[in-house]
Amino acid sequence: MPNRRRFISLLGGGLFGAALITAAIPSTLTSVLAQSAPKKAAPAKGGALETKTINLGYIPILEAAPLVIAQEKGFFAKHGLTDVNITKQASWPSARDNVVLGSAGGGIDGGQWQLPMPQMISNGAISNGKKVPMYILAMLSSQGNGIVASNNVKKADLGLNTKGDGAFFKKFEKEKGRKFRAAYTFPKANQDMWIRYWLAAGGVDPDNNVELLTVPAAETVAGLRNGTMELFSTGDPWPTRAVEEKFGYMVATTANIWRVHPEEFLAVRADWVKKNPKATIALLKGVMEAQQWLDKAGNKEEAAKILSSRKWFNVPAPVLELALRGGYKVGTTAQKETNPAMAPLYWNSSRGVISYPYKSLTLWFLLESIRWKFYPGQLPNVAAAKALNDQVTREDLWKQAAKELGVPAKDIPKGSSRGVEKFFDGVVYDPAKPEAYLNSLKIKR
Ligand code: CA
Repeated sequence: MPNRRRFISLLGGGLFGAALITAAIPSTLTSVLAQSAPKKAAPAKGGALETKTINLGYIPILEAAPLVIAQEKGFFAKHGLTDVNITKQASWPSARDNVVLGSAGGGIDGGQWQLPMPQMISNGAISNGKKVPMYILAMLSSQGNGIVASNNVKKADLGLNTKGDGAFFKKFEKEKGRKFRAAYTFPKANQDMWIRYWLAAGGVDPDNNVELLTVPAAETVAGLRNGTMELFSTGDPWPTRAVEEKFGYMVATTANIWRVHPEEFLAVRADWVKKNPKATIALLKGVMEAQQWLDKAGNKEEAAKILSSRKWFNVPAPVLELALRGGYKVGTTAQKETNPAMAPLYWNSSRGVISYPYKSLTLWFLLESIRWKFYPGQLPNVAAAKALNDQVTREDLWKQAAKELGVPAKDIPKGSSRGVEKFFDGVVYDPAKPEAYLNSLKIKR
């Protein structure tokens, strides 16, 4: 296929090039080309896709599983995307830099994102002022993340409820001559927000009582072992791995903090979506089918095997399978989590279909950004956050793809709000009253 593509582009591409190829190349070569053509590609509604190619980035955590499974189980190819490239990103900053470059610059068109990265790349806030409009197309996963503390602080017995532990963090600083260190994988996004939410709920000020730092997901376990930090938050398999290898203990899973919370999302550059509307729907259909496949209990073992390969996560399959099944050991006593509803979720949940990109959920990350004054210039208030979020979150494309895929009408949400959300500390986020949510939070900037 690459040869053929190069040949077509040498000839100027498009229909003219294709016609020339058919007329000019020997019949033996045309038959070889015909053989290498996709066999099972389902015809796209309203004609052929604009492209069969997209370049996607991923980070080796369970949030990326729908992209890997769509590729490996042939769901992208089934819908006509026969040339999808999924490339491991060294870190979230690399993913950001690569999407700013785009495919034309040797980067990526989109992929897996923590929020609000797509929103803040769209308005240039985290991309050196360079505005690269992006669209959030689907939620990739819920839950499956954790907060892990080092065994060096096992005596502190940190848990979901840190009430009274503010004293521990102050004592730590006094004794060690430095603050307690907590690591996330990218500042001002999911993992930073989970750590902050958890600490603040327990009366610990994340900007004053601890030191927050950035460590790439794949380096978190090593960082805990060598004392770079006392605590980290990231996607599995890293929290599970730290516990299984006995470097640390699970303080809380993100499912403990907020049941069926929004985690990571599929987002793609807006220029790619505008240029390739049919291929965008095909991309969504492939991801949705992978999410449905991943949620079947009978597929977890195969999923773990696929993800474990050197090509993808390069992590032992048993650790991945344990994480996929949500077999967490929580707290210093390693209490076994047995409720399957607390595992990573890809499609089904008690709150409806995971994949749908509810604006009420994508907005929450912008509200948290206001809470901590992450972007005072670009996100001064709720109105600005809503305007940005409306521009980036594309529920309409998800609905179109779901209808074409045959998702039952009852599983296709009608509105943009998932309704009232509740956190472990009793705080309520009613998307109809975002100001009231912000006002209800005790520790904020
Ligand atoms: Ca995550």
